[in-house]
Amino acid sequence: MADSSSCGILRIALPVPLRRVFDYLPPAEISPNNLKPGIRIRVPFGKSKENSGRIGILLEMVVQSTLDKDQLKTCLEVLDTEPVISQKQLDLLKWASAYYHHSVGDVLFSSIPTLLRQGQPAKLPTTSAWRILPSAPSGDDPCLRRAPRQVEILECLNQNPKGLSAEALKKISAGWRNTISRMIEKGWVEEVETEITCLPAENQSTTSQPVLNEHQIRAVSEVSAALNQFQVFLLDGVTGSGKTEVYFRVIEKVVSNQQQALVLIPEIGLTAQLIDRFRSRFSCPITVLHSGLSDKERLSAWLLAQEGKAAIIIGTRSAIWTPLPAPGVIIVDEEHDTSYKQQDGFRYSARDIAIVRGQRDKIPVILGSATPSLESLNNVRQNKCQHLILPERAGDAVQPAIRFLDIRNAELTNGLSRPLIKKIKDCLKDNKQALLFLNRRGFSPVMMCHHCGWIANCRHCDANLTFHQGARQMRCHHCGSQQRMLTECPDCQGSELIPVGQGTEQITQTLEELFPDARILRIDRDSTSRKGEMDRMLAMIHNNEVDILVGTQMLSKGHHFPDVTLVGVLDADNRLYGADFRSTERLAQLITQVAGRAGRAEHPGEVYIQTHHPDHPVLQSLARYDFSGLADQLMAERSEAMLPPFASMVIIRAEAIRAGDAMTFLHGAKTQIPTIDGIEVWGPVVAQMERRAGRYRAQLIIQSTQRQLLHRMLDDWIPKVENMKKPYNLRWSLDVDPQDTF
Ligand code: ADP
Ligand code: ZN
Ligand code: ZN
Repeated sequence: MADSSSCGILRIALPVPLRRVFDYLPPAEISPNNLKPGIRIRVPFGKSKENSGRIGILLEMVVQSTLDKDQLKTCLEVLDTEPVISQKQLDLLKWASAYYHHSVGDVLFSSIPTLLRQGQPAKLPTTSAWRILPSAPSGDDPCLRRAPRQVEILECLNQNPKGLSAEALKKISAGWRNTISRMIEKGWVEEVETEITCLPAENQSTTSQPVLNEHQIRAVSEVSAALNQFQVFLLDGVTGSGKTEVYFRVIEKVVSNQQQALVLIPEIGLTAQLIDRFRSRFSCPITVLHSGLSDKERLSAWLLAQEGKAAIIIGTRSAIWTPLPAPGVIIVDEEHDTSYKQQDGFRYSARDIAIVRGQRDKIPVILGSATPSLESLNNVRQNKCQHLILPERAGDAVQPAIRFLDIRNAELTNGLSRPLIKKIKDCLKDNKQALLFLNRRGFSPVMMCHHCGWIANCRHCDANLTFHQGARQMRCHHCGSQQRMLTECPDCQGSELIPVGQGTEQITQTLEELFPDARILRIDRDSTSRKGEMDRMLAMIHNNEVDILVGTQMLSKGHHFPDVTLVGVLDADNRLYGADFRSTERLAQLITQVAGRAGRAEHPGEVYIQTHHPDHPVLQSLARYDFSGLADQLMAERSEAMLPPFASMVIIRAEAIRAGDAMTFLHGAKTQIPTIDGIEVWGPVVAQMERRAGRYRAQLIIQSTQRQLLHRMLDDWIPKVENMKKPYNLRWSLDVDPQDTF
């Protein structure tokens, strides 16, 4: 060990679930002094000889390893000269790894684009573009009289002398490739390789910006006063109250200070419409990060942010890890949205990370919502967060009235009550749009034999199969398995299988029968699975090509439908008595969001909720738009029961192929938990749906009102759990601050 100080040891994080780091010797030809933390290094890993190794990230150089030097392997290859993860970013990621008790290698690698994980160079990828040449004729040249498509494309190329991508050309004309090849033959156009850059700015909107109301002015000035310092704001404003307008004014200031704005949006709220709204408002470079990007596009967006070339970065959950050399503000829109919590692998909350980033970068963080999470409201109470309230809709729009349709004993036509059908009829007569919510896709959630009562179950889960009429299939919504629709009962060979209950497909069909002249559009995960379909459907709604919309939760957020005046909620009841301690909070959020879709422009809106419990206090509060009163009530209940946000919670989940294995493992893990005052352990219990995708599941809940105490216990306990003997197929995971308790 004598000479170890002279040659340094590289401590490397690898993308493996093991909660540890790995030590290696530097390659002989490279001086360790030239290696910076955050670079990628290929190292030998595992047993196979032909193994080309694994890519890891250098965390630090150390003088001594826990292993003897002759046991250390030597690195294979250094991939970068400059870090792909800056020291500042490494520190944040290491913090997250410790807080969520998750493998540091997994955390680091999940924060970088796939192409970097695979070892591609960290430089802006290129793509084909087509550029106009000086020899091209002008659009009114007689030689083009019979070629309107060429004229169209030439004009666009003229306006974009740097060239247009395939994506952009496709928007001009579906058959652009043929047209372009003809123009290349004529020597008018050339194909070039260009870097993928930020989104080109739209034509800057000529409509004047709205004059802010007093509440917006106050919100903007409070945040502006906190630029360049850490401060969390809860922008609490009903839907349509002008929160986005507040974001815009703050972003303008940030951008004019040469700083970057990071804007997080829930997965389903990030639409072409929203991006266009940003593009027509800002002339600075904007880049977007979401799950629909190709690997190349993602790398390019990430690098543009890292190199400071993008001023505004808009993205979904994982965009919270985007490196920013000059951060100015982080905005989390719809902060209560569950899509901010990753539900598998590295289970982080992007909203919570936003706050930690703001604190480390000394910048303001704005959490916006019409229905703030109890976590954020509690932070307001504890003065960790400043409450900015926008109490009314911006401009002349008013909140729609929320009313209940008592469906006890009512006659329903496939789930639709008479009064609701009448309301839809009236709405159509007025040439307005109606929006109906049912959070269940498919035709019916149950298929039953009319003769013997047999019910179609999933072979792999404790769940029913959903009938999808369009596809003539029965599908499991839990494991994704599917089978052809049966023609007879497997038990009694009876030939009459009947659908029980309704999904969006059936509601759509019923409406088609009731309103044969209406144009009806169904929006759910099935109907929008093709890329671009959602945006196409939203455009149809905006162009008034639709009379009745039937949708799932997907439609509840963020969208602005000026002509929707009637909103119907078909299935509020099953959430009133949900099993999770957050079900009431979620129902309140959903109904408030849904109501926010109606009457957002000059036409007043109405919301009708079908329910068997019209007098339920939660529904009554919602009808009065008393979300804050309801939140107070829920807070009191949580405080009484010592549930989050008044306690920190951790869930350890396990699943195995053999029944009982998960429970046995969790019982064993529980015995390793030291008895400490202030730490409570509940369970283990089997999951509500015990078998899913062929695996039996169980869970153990640990919680404490003292976060630090809980985390110190976990630090000691988790290594013991890792070392426990387990059946080979048992999987277990840890969820810190879980969103769901099943
Ligand atoms: P939110 O994000 O709270 O749902 P938006 O910022 O999208 O609300 O505003 C809703 C609508 O009201 C938009 O069309 C917006 O342009 C308009 N708006 C916002 N602020 C004002 C204002 N002060 N005066 C008039 N219209 C406004
Ligand atoms: Zn039968
Ligand atoms: Zn299943």
